[in-house]
Amino acid sequence: MSTLTLTKTGNFINGKSEKASKLTKEVISPIDGSVLTNVVLSSSKDLDEAVNAAKAALPAWSSKTLKQRVQVLYRFRQLLEDNIEELSELVYLENGKTKDEAKAEVLKGIELTEFACSLPQFINDEVQMVSRGIECRTTHVPVGVVASIVPFNFPAMVPMWTIPNAIALGNCMILKPSEQVPMTAYRIAELFSEAGLEDGILNIVNGEKEIVEAICDHPGIEAVTFVGSTNVAKIVYRRATYNYKRCISLGGAKNHLFVLPDASIDMAANIVSSMAGSAGQRCMAASVLVMVGKNDKMIDAICEQSRNLKPGTDELGTVISKESKERIENYITQAEEAGAKILVDGRNTIVPGLEGGFYVGPTVIDQVTPDMNIATEEVFGPVLSIIRTNDVDEAIAIENNSAYGNAAAVFTENGSMANYILDKASAGMVGVNVGVPVPREPFSFGGWNDSSFGANDITGKNSISFWTKLKKRTTKWNAEDWTDWMS
Ligand code: NAD
Repeated sequence: MSTLTLTKTGNFINGKSEKASKLTKEVISPIDGSVLTNVVLSSSKDLDEAVNAAKAALPAWSSKTLKQRVQVLYRFRQLLEDNIEELSELVYLENGKTKDEAKAEVLKGIELTEFACSLPQFINDEVQMVSRGIECRTTHVPVGVVASIVPFNFPAMVPMWTIPNAIALGNCMILKPSEQVPMTAYRIAELFSEAGLEDGILNIVNGEKEIVEAICDHPGIEAVTFVGSTNVAKIVYRRATYNYKRCISLGGAKNHLFVLPDASIDMAANIVSSMAGSAGQRCMAASVLVMVGKNDKMIDAICEQSRNLKPGTDELGTVISKESKERIENYITQAEEAGAKILVDGRNTIVPGLEGGFYVGPTVIDQVTPDMNIATEEVFGPVLSIIRTNDVDEAIAIENNSAYGNAAAVFTENGSMANYILDKASAGMVGVNVGVPVPREPFSFGGWNDSSFGANDITGKNSISFWTKLKKRTTKWNAEDWTDWMS
């Protein structure tokens, strides 16, 4: 299937591959069900090694200036560009998204790295004469050894949400990739080394539940970020903060698109690509279309374009596993049994020549009611549920009742109506005529409600306060001129 040599799935500790753990697990390519490699499943002993390596690297790294530290990121950014074909191929093989989607995610990783390169321009420490002869000044100080636990759906991009900012700001990091897609992360760590990042500043521990719990408990780790499903996000947030760590924990999503009667059907492609891009496995994917009044031409256009997307081509990739395919198809069947109408059916999709792959075709379901499982739970596949409403406030109430709160978007030509809806939407990232309203750098990424736990967003300017501690220094210069600090 590929010309790449797929051998590197150990841990990456102190700049080299470590096979310390006894257990391994097969990494399956969702494209055809073949075994790509084996990944180690680490224990807390392996984590100790990684934390020790990070602790040893921390004093020298954290005492460099921000401008010195970002030099390595400039070189890393160039290496991402030089190796974009190989990285995209790894993403494609282990995740199953299309090659174009894989490349787009590496490009987004480049953009995230560029933001980290620009951090010296963003961090303006404050200094002020707070009293006669007395100065107060703030300094951003690294937090220390930090950890980032990431999901399967963006093997290149999500690690880049955290690594560049965290290390630019002087921290040493332990990354825990998804055991389903460990190869891209390993290659990213190698490229950091090639860029000149000293050993121990970035380490990888692979594994599952056991290593995630060990990260939450480890006394040598000061801060944890998590991206994944809501159930695990809650466990990680609770456990990491119980152990007095800083934590941002991003969970799942159920994103609503409001379609108004005046929405242009030229926007249908936007809605279909939001629903089916990365086979619906994006936390910003369109999941529920809330139709306000009537716009049947839009539904027809969405159905026609969905039918035209061919799984297993460069138009639509796979879902991650056999279990995911079964889960998604069960949701569709349950909705049908509950009375919904399947307009486009992606169940039982088999791609000739790739019979072992986990393909689900685009699926559009009409007559969904707000109480159905498919309307409330995260499906994480290329499935769009249509709920019909009579007015805008009824539509808003449906979105507001969702447990999640990542994204919401309105499709209309009416600006004041768009503002009315988005002001009331209970989601952290909203858009007008934009199917996937991901904020671009320097704006930060982060949802609300059960899509995000913790005070900060995970990227952009807002993440600076997560990755640093603020030191406040008060200095008195004029010893001869007595001043009370309050005067
Ligand atoms: P997941 O929760 O199954 O796994 C995420 C990470 O947690 C992985 O590294 C995994 O090894 C680990 N993990 C899994 N089960 C665990 C357990 N019981 N205890 C401790 N650790 C455990 O998520 P996934 O299937 O890899 O990714 C898909 C999910 O991620 C979706 O719900 C999606 O919405 C979400 N996601 C959210 C965002 C966001 O920004 N909010 C972004 C990307 C993905």
